[in-house]
Amino acid sequence: MAKEILLEVVTPDKLLLSKEVEVLVATSVDGEFGVLAGHVPFLASLAVGELRFKTGNETEYAAIAGGFCEVTGEKVTILAEAAELAREIDVDRAQRARERAEQRIQKAATEQLEYVRAEAALQRAMLRLKVADRAAVI
Ligand code: ATP
Repeated sequence: MAKEILLEVVTPDKLLLSKEVEVLVATSVDGEFGVLAGHVPFLASLAVGELRFKTGNETEYAAIAGGFCEVTGEKVTILAEAAELAREIDVDRAQRARERAEQRIQKAATEQLEYVRAEAALQRAMLRLKVADRAAVI
């Protein structure tokens, strides 16, 4: 059997996971990285991304909403802003959150376009007022 390493996932609410794993793959801001027992110590900033870990034939998955990962020879600690194991994710809730976020992005894009158009209209109007003033002087 492969040598194991202790993986702990901690959120502001709880200790989500404490488990001996053979290998784990997490998502840093620079991309995915893998850790096995005896890995050199390091610290990584985690992106909003997937964590997967394997023991024997079983691979499990978790959603990590950003945070930090500290690796020492015998332990990996993930401090996550929020984290859920795959089986604990409320899919309806995530779908509703996705729809809300998409609507907000759409609204913000429309507002940004309106802002750019209003700025251009303001420039035209200011120019016309300035030029009209010239006619008054002549
Ligand atoms: P929502 O709008 O649905 O609350 P969110 O992205 O604002 O989503 P977060 O602030 O990231 O939510 O998380 C708040 C808490 O809710 C955390 O404890 C997180 O683990 C949990 N959580 C968020 N979404 C889900 C989900 N779909 N299933 C299970 N737990 C969730």
